[in-house]
Amino acid sequence: MAYEDGGGVKGRAYGGCRPGPAERYMDLALREAGKAALKGEVPVGAVIVRDGAVLAKGRNKRMAGRDVAGHAEIDAMRKAARKLGDWRLDGCEMYVTLEPCPMCAGAIIQSRLARLHYGASDPKAGAAGSVVDLFAVDGWNHRVEVMEGVMGAECSAILSAFFRGLRKGVGSRAP
Ligand SMILES: [Zn+2]
Repeated sequence: MAYEDGGGVKGRAYGGCRPGPAERYMDLALREAGKAALKGEVPVGAVIVRDGAVLAKGRNKRMAGRDVAGHAEIDAMRKAARKLGDWRLDGCEMYVTLEPCPMCAGAIIQSRLARLHYGASDPKAGAAGSVVDLFAVDGWNHRVEVMEGVMGAECSAILSAFFRGLRKGVGSRAP
């Protein structure tokens, strides 16, 4: 995720409007994004699910942690790994509100997650097709299935509202 302005929506994979499991998990990720926004962080949230159960939740903490790797996906993967006692997240699925950046895409591939679902696309730093598609590269020893656009409008709206607030000087520190 770029954590910059301009998340868009493609909505290719998820056209329906009835809430299914994917929407419920993305809704949890959106709540994490909301918590990040309350702390003045760019609102991005992630949830990791295995066998229908939520294993870990993460949110952007880049400013609070003064950590370039403080993205929601990394936060969630670290927590899931602690819970499983293993860095390998085989059979897990991630729901994240914004298309992953190259750093997170790399970590997701390394973690061996089975599937990634993301909401808004990120035209400035997305590594799942917007700027580059690391998940489509042949040759990695692990392939992650990617589903885009789940609750894309909501995921995009929370980012737009956050940056609109910053421009108006509402919100806290600039990103
Ligand atoms: Zn990232």
